[in-house]
Amino acid sequence: MIVAIDGPSGSGKSSVAREVARRCGLTYLDTGAMYRSVAFTCLDGGVDPEDAEAVARVAREIDIEFQTDEGGQRVRANGKDVTSQIRTPEVELAVSPVSANPAVREVMVALQRRAGERGDVVAEGRDIGTVVFPAADVKVFLSASPEARARRRAVQRGGGNLATGENVVVDEAAEKAILADLVRRDEYDSTREASPLRPAEDAVRIDSSDLSFEQVVATILALSPE
Ligand code: C5P
Repeated sequence: MIVAIDGPSGSGKSSVAREVARRCGLTYLDTGAMYRSVAFTCLDGGVDPEDAEAVARVAREIDIEFQTDEGGQRVRANGKDVTSQIRTPEVELAVSPVSANPAVREVMVALQRRAGERGDVVAEGRDIGTVVFPAADVKVFLSASPEARARRRAVQRGGGNLATGENVVVDEAAEKAILADLVRRDEYDSTREASPLRPAEDAVRIDSSDLSFEQVVATILALSPE
């Protein structure tokens, strides 16, 4: 069984996909972490993210591994633990040109399909329902208003948990910067030539702006075939 969850940055895809995978006993595949790993490896090796040829070489040679432990999922790129390093503002800037590079996408899509062949997955990203797994059993396009998405990210970064209401303190300046970055990345992802962000025709669209985490998870579980 394959569940495809696409949507813009900060729509809650990652936590929702992880929870759906956990409850259904499926493997969670974070494709954004793969593009981020390529972007990080470029920066780490002094490769200019705009140098299409050099970036394509990094993508062809990269070895990306996911490991799940009690603390969540860890990501290794070429043997190095990059779990937190792929979430920095520098990587967030570099990942846009890296993911717009058609040669990079070709390599990543092939790796993602291979992960799908191995078994049951919940894959989340931008082009899962349109390109990677067009025949997925369940396709969801998860969105939310930019303001709702920026607020969630700001709460998460501050160590808070919206699902439980714990430590929900928001730094307004940080929230503004997050909003500006989300809007910039959405614009880039939606207008790039290679696999622009758009819902698959047969995707179920869910706007999570006014829904709780649990409501989104329950809506997706209700779509899954028995
Ligand atoms: O989902 P996340 O924010 O981690 O993704 C990081 C970046 O990777 C996105 O801004 C997007 O440009 C790119 N991406 C993509 N296709 C995917 C997943 C992510 O282009 N399937």
